[in-house]
Amino acid sequence: MEERTGGIHSISLPVPFPVGTVNVYLVDEEPITLIDTGVKSDDSLRVLKDSLGELGCPIDSIRRILITHGHVDHYGQAKRISAISGAQIFIHKNDFQRIRSMDQFWENLAPVLRQNGTPRDSLEGAIDYMKSAVRSLAEPPDDVCFIQDGDEICFEDLALRSILCPGHSPGLLCFYLEKKGILISGDHLLSEISPNPIMDLKSEGAGPPSTSLKKYLDSIEKIRGLEVSLVLPGHGEPIQGFPGALTKILSHHEQRLSNLLSVLSMGEKTAYEISTALFPKARHFEVFLGVSEVLGHLRILLDEGRIAWRSKNGLDYYART
Ligand SMILES: [Zn+2]
Repeated sequence: MEERTGGIHSISLPVPFPVGTVNVYLVDEEPITLIDTGVKSDDSLRVLKDSLGELGCPIDSIRRILITHGHVDHYGQAKRISAISGAQIFIHKNDFQRIRSMDQFWENLAPVLRQNGTPRDSLEGAIDYMKSAVRSLAEPPDDVCFIQDGDEICFEDLALRSILCPGHSPGLLCFYLEKKGILISGDHLLSEISPNPIMDLKSEGAGPPSTSLKKYLDSIEKIRGLEVSLVLPGHGEPIQGFPGALTKILSHHEQRLSNLLSVLSMGEKTAYEISTALFPKARHFEVFLGVSEVLGHLRILLDEGRIAWRSKNGLDYYART
């Protein structure tokens, strides 16, 4: 735990994923506000309580919980904290709807993964893992207030502006403290890794049912003009060089696009075959992430006319044009 400038304190909480920890942020100005919550686990709650105590803001002093996005490591124990403190929970409606309709999402996801060539055992392994992670590590809140793009979230002295940045999730919000040049980015920007554009199962006509990567890259453009001296991300260390971080993300995706095109030079392939060529070690949840990312890139390449799509025996195939 470290103190940050501008009355914002970072607290690192354990998560049972390879990433290891999630950062939540305390704004210790009235109304005392917690940004993200960590997963619902006894460990996570204990570390949170201890850290808040050390900062002089016991958990029952929290009045407001802002959720950057609807993934378990960010909203998992919101309901629990709200039950203890009476805090109101704020989230964007796109992610609230996703949280409330996860069963529908799994149901829609299985045929899409199958159509994109994922073998049955990998598909079932990925979905079972995600289902049980969501059920055990999060409790969906039912009583929330919605935040929209551009809302001002006021404190005694400070004000945060919400910026809707769809991509990693459909309703991801960054919170911008303009006065101090601080951007709380959720998983929109991360220090070590490039956020995955989780597939949104939206298709515009035939072909890859995911517009998430396109939206993600648009959301990178959306924040480019901000004056930011410090990014406080959802995982990992704070990021100092804001313009450099954006350039790094864009060149990472350019590189992925060209890797993907070279995989397709060897002949037509399904999204799953491409993802196993690019990420040969992926297992369970990572299979889903791999196919998600590939579908996002395929969507862009198809829209640009650089690849072609065809359906054969119920599977979607892609080839270079
Ligand atoms: Zn996360």
